[in-house]
Amino acid sequence: MPQPNWPSQPGWGQPRPPIAPQPNNGWIIVAIILVVTIAVMGAGIVAIARPWEPLPAPPIPTPSPASPTPTPAGTPNDDRYWVPGPPDLNPNHPAWPQPDQIKGLLEQNPLYNQVIPTADCALRQIDLPTASIDALEQYLNDVMACLMYVWYTPVYDAGYQMPRPSVTVYSSPTKTPCGQVEELVRAYYCPTNQQIYFGIELMTSYGRYSGERAVVLYILAHEYAHAVQYRTQILGSQLVLFPNADSEADAAESNRRLELQADCWSGAALNAMRESLGLTNTEQEHAVNSRANAGDPTPDPLGSHGSGPTGARWLRIGFGANSPGTCNTWIVPYDEVT
Ligand SMILES: [Zn+2]
Repeated sequence: MPQPNWPSQPGWGQPRPPIAPQPNNGWIIVAIILVVTIAVMGAGIVAIARPWEPLPAPPIPTPSPASPTPTPAGTPNDDRYWVPGPPDLNPNHPAWPQPDQIKGLLEQNPLYNQVIPTADCALRQIDLPTASIDALEQYLNDVMACLMYVWYTPVYDAGYQMPRPSVTVYSSPTKTPCGQVEELVRAYYCPTNQQIYFGIELMTSYGRYSGERAVVLYILAHEYAHAVQYRTQILGSQLVLFPNADSEADAAESNRRLELQADCWSGAALNAMRESLGLTNTEQEHAVNSRANAGDPTPDPLGSHGSGPTGARWLRIGFGANSPGTCNTWIVPYDEVT
């Protein structure tokens, strides 16, 4: 299947991967300054909410070949019992959306009709600020397995597959198929290889949220939500939509809808994992507050991730959701995605 045509659009070449970097571009400078400014303020979540910014490689859109029928998740007593296998380091890619499919995939995705099951994962706890990098990576991969429990069935029942991403914790600049990851207070989902990269300082020196388990979990669940978006053709649809938007503002709005949906799905997944994690209401509030303190400046029509309060609102909506459809940010009015 051919790749979509990515027109060169002066003004917003940099923020997303399908578009080659545009050197002569004031917008890039503005964006960089914005990121730096926010980073100085300690708002790492914004950086996290920019999973592709330094990752310029586009995903490799290939038709989804016939693949082995996955065994759905379920409980041990039903025929859909499923245990997460090891990370899939070479998954196939979902079908690339056709232009006439995009609106339907974004606004009426079959995933929205599904139910998010409660996870039963018995996750252990570790002391994040003092754990070794190996222990941190193992912990995040254990959480990933639990996220698979949460998402596998609704994604499967919606007609898609959900291969398990790996989580790589990096403590120095690391090459990925999407480019090099350098900042240690960021996390990324790379659609090219469908794996997740997690900067170590998110767990060890994350400002006033240092060592806050719920914040780390929120970030990981947010990146996983991008994987869910990719597998259900939502991310691909937005990647088609983005470079064809009528204006920079419209392109940014589509990115905010994507990111805010990921915030909401993060909350929904953590809610489903609440008992497995032993997540307290206080921890939940810390996660929401961390998002409230990170985000695009308000008001900022060119913001691509949503303001702090907007992101916090969607995260909170997610904590009360038991269906992915509650997080349909693609049909709400503009003022709910600012
Ligand atoms: Zn994001």
